Amino acid sequence: MTARLIDGKELAESVLSAVRERVMRLVRPPLLVAVAVSDDKASRAYTKRQAKIAAATGIEYRLDQLPDGATEADLRKHLASLNADAAVTGVILQTPLPKSFAIGACRDTIVVEKDVEGVTTPAAGLLATGRPAARPCTAAAAVHCLIAALGGEKSALRGLEIAVVGRSDIVGKPLALLLVQADATVTICHRGTKDLGAVLRRMDAVIAAAGAAALVRGDMLKPGAIVIDVGTNPVETAEGTKIVGDVDFASACEVASAITPVPGGVGQVTTALLMRNVVDLAEASNATRR
Ligand code: NAP
Repeated sequence: MTARLIDGKELAESVLSAVRERVMRLVRPPLLVAVAVSDDKASRAYTKRQAKIAAATGIEYRLDQLPDGATEADLRKHLASLNADAAVTGVILQTPLPKSFAIGACRDTIVVEKDVEGVTTPAAGLLATGRPAARPCTAAAAVHCLIAALGGEKSALRGLEIAVVGRSDIVGKPLALLLVQADATVTICHRGTKDLGAVLRRMDAVIAAAGAAALVRGDMLKPGAIVIDVGTNPVETAEGTKIVGDVDFASACEVASAITPVPGGVGQVTTALLMRNVVDLAEASNATRR
């Protein structure tokens, strides 16, 4: 079997075109503000990409880079000022933060109404209880790719046996919750899982979000399984640094029925869903609604 590729770029385009139309219907464009403390290469690349995609959808974007030496108190004060600013629709706190900063407390300074990435404790609680709030974009993107592979209907998740490899607060846990809420039967794997292959071989779909290159191989999959690869792992090659997923792509393609590539899969959809979250927040607030 050679797996069908799930094209993240195509899925992202379709999400973004709907976002563009919804932005045009608002009284004024939403404003997305990213706040960065450290000057990190990966974070810089991500904010550049956010700015480009926001511009392409009519969303205004601003990067607030705090000066060198900014303290946690400075950051929290800045986030509080964005909460109070009616012109700001959504706020992203870029990571990494300096090691001494309490990341959870910093995130929780953002009010849930502006938490566009769904990373605050109130947003997590609202997700856990199935109530509205922005959903974490990477988790939502993985589910979006899986639904696309199943033909586009969320109801196709009902009754499927799905493993999520990874249990982080930002990716694995929200992913599992989204799948359970769509009536899938979900198994969460982590470093304590005794025999990962034995668990994954039972699954109709595997979502790898571990941050471990080539963790999931073809011999660990049920024939015909759908594989969603969330991982982004830098590896050194003769041609320089390359980004690979958590799935050994070549061997998985021999066994799976459909698979997301890395790059060009979940990552593309993640940024598109971030923009969709911005419009959701804008529509929910009085500031930009007609
Ligand atoms: P994380 O906080 O490091 O969590 C990784 C999770 O994977 C942990 O729960 C860990 O288990 C589990 N894990 C790691 N190695 C494992 C192994 N050998 N066997 C079983 N479980 C293992 O990472 P994260 O923030 O969730 O991100 C996960 C991956 O997604 C990373 O590659 C990251 O770069 C990528 N990512 C991609 C996007 C995107 O848009 N595509 C966005 C965000 C993140 P324990 O809990 O037992 O330690």
